[in-house]
Amino acid sequence: MYRTNTCGELNISNVGQTVTLAGWVQRSRDLGGMTFIDLRDRYGITQLAFNMETNADLCQQARRLGREFVVQASGKVIERSSKNSKIPTGEIEIEVTELVVLNAAKTPPFTIEDLSDGGDDLRMKYRYLDLRRNPVRRNLELRHRMAMLVRNYLSNLDFLEIETPMLIKSTPEGARDFVVPSRMNPGEFYALPQSPQQYKQLLMVAGMDRYFQIVRCFRDEDLRADRQPEFTQIDCEMSFVEQEDVLQTFEGLAKHLFKEVKNLDFEQFPRITWHEAMRRFGSDKPDVRFGMEFVELNDVAKGHGFGLFDNAELVVGICAPGCAEYTRKQLDALTDFVKRPQVGAGGLVYVKCNADGSFKSSVDKFFSQDDLKAIAAKMEAKAGDLLLILCGPAMKTRVQLCALRLEMAQQLGLRDPNKFAPLWVVDFPLLEWDDETQRYYAMHHPFTAPKPEDEALLDQPDRWGDIRANAYDIVINGVEVGGGSIRIHDRTLQNKMFHTLGFSDEQAAAQFGFLMDAFTYGAPPHAGLAFGFDRLCSLFGGADSIRDFIAFPKNNSGRDVMSGSPSPIADAQLEELCISVKKNS
Ligand code: ASP
Repeated sequence: MYRTNTCGELNISNVGQTVTLAGWVQRSRDLGGMTFIDLRDRYGITQLAFNMETNADLCQQARRLGREFVVQASGKVIERSSKNSKIPTGEIEIEVTELVVLNAAKTPPFTIEDLSDGGDDLRMKYRYLDLRRNPVRRNLELRHRMAMLVRNYLSNLDFLEIETPMLIKSTPEGARDFVVPSRMNPGEFYALPQSPQQYKQLLMVAGMDRYFQIVRCFRDEDLRADRQPEFTQIDCEMSFVEQEDVLQTFEGLAKHLFKEVKNLDFEQFPRITWHEAMRRFGSDKPDVRFGMEFVELNDVAKGHGFGLFDNAELVVGICAPGCAEYTRKQLDALTDFVKRPQVGAGGLVYVKCNADGSFKSSVDKFFSQDDLKAIAAKMEAKAGDLLLILCGPAMKTRVQLCALRLEMAQQLGLRDPNKFAPLWVVDFPLLEWDDETQRYYAMHHPFTAPKPEDEALLDQPDRWGDIRANAYDIVINGVEVGGGSIRIHDRTLQNKMFHTLGFSDEQAAAQFGFLMDAFTYGAPPHAGLAFGFDRLCSLFGGADSIRDFIAFPKNNSGRDVMSGSPSPIADAQLEELCISVKKNS
């Protein structure tokens, strides 16, 4: 037997037992007469003790062990004289009588400590060493636990976990596909799934009734911060359900996770429509852990001779509590913030609600004290608050103000990672206009059903932007953790949708023929959703980055710096695949 116990389980009740442990040398301390080694494995750390007087050879041997050597040690569990109350094994140590070096180790390029001295790049290059660190390991343990909770919860509700193919047909909608050349079919390609969307719908046609899968998905998008080209979804689909059934089922799942992982209970999650979310927060994934909701100010802001306001479609502001004392420098910084290209506002108007009841604003030339008082009253501001106001085209301005709202919340410490504010955003628009290509795209995906009461608008192209979908997102702390929709299960409606998206009959048949065909063989009404599992784990783990919840993530350029992928392949391989690559030089 390699070991009788792990390094995390022995305590005072084991004193007197003879044990064998195996693990990695975390650190060693040489105190002259005694040498101590912290032996680490996944479960914890146990102290090994070597006595120069009673066993000099062994003690000398122990002194030669370097960090991260893999060793096996046997001996008796004894009570420690100086105890460490911080770890479960801190009251005992092993009086070692036998030591075997199972493997020597080079000195690791960074310390295997909770707060490592390794930078991001180094940690990624030696990810297997990084994974030895407690915080990263704990994240993977959390991920495992959440996956088990999800599986059991859904299985208990009769969901079947069914695998769908990884090599599928490339479709032009949505993000860019990763493609895989087919050697046996020269010049033809598979795509890796962006999601199992069409397959899960086919499983409903197949009568599986309730499906889920914890599944890898691939999207070849330009990587924004903290996006991974491959990521994991909890993908779900149900038959014979209405939106309410879906929301209840998956709210149940979310609550179950909150209870089991965080011991938190929730009332029913709030629900707001997409339009309301945009109006109140300027975002379809609002962070509702804090207030600072938008207040529309057209009626009190216009007509005072301030051209920017007077000519704007929308004047809208937020009230930053207790910030009236902001200095010139802080206000300038906020102005710079909204003017950054990523935010794109033209400028920022502020109104300070002074403690003495007076007002000071950046538009004092145009607004009297009474005018400012009316604005403050409309925003329900108190003395000491700071009003921050933007103006311009309605939707654009809302999105800009959303960035400012989040920035202010950050500055005020209102984005507490230990607080959780889930909600549903419902009634998303069905279609989204794209200026660049001058056409509508499905906001969710082309299989999402319009609201029945809006269906007739599909016949009025000038109203396409107004059509609402039976689509919903679950949002936690400003993060979209999941989304889904009621699906179109009627071939005629699906056809109409493809036409709306600019597909000819032939194109639709070529791309989605198999799904359309399936719909002619008795497709049940169905609906579903998918959670972003990596994101969900990072949220529950209280971290911003999803990377540390993925064992082997890619970096921001989509590279695996550990294995060095992507990488060129041999000419012979290319030839076999009938691919010619333009080479520089
Ligand atoms: N397949 C969708 C997605 O990946 C989720 C869904 O509609 O179920 O966003």
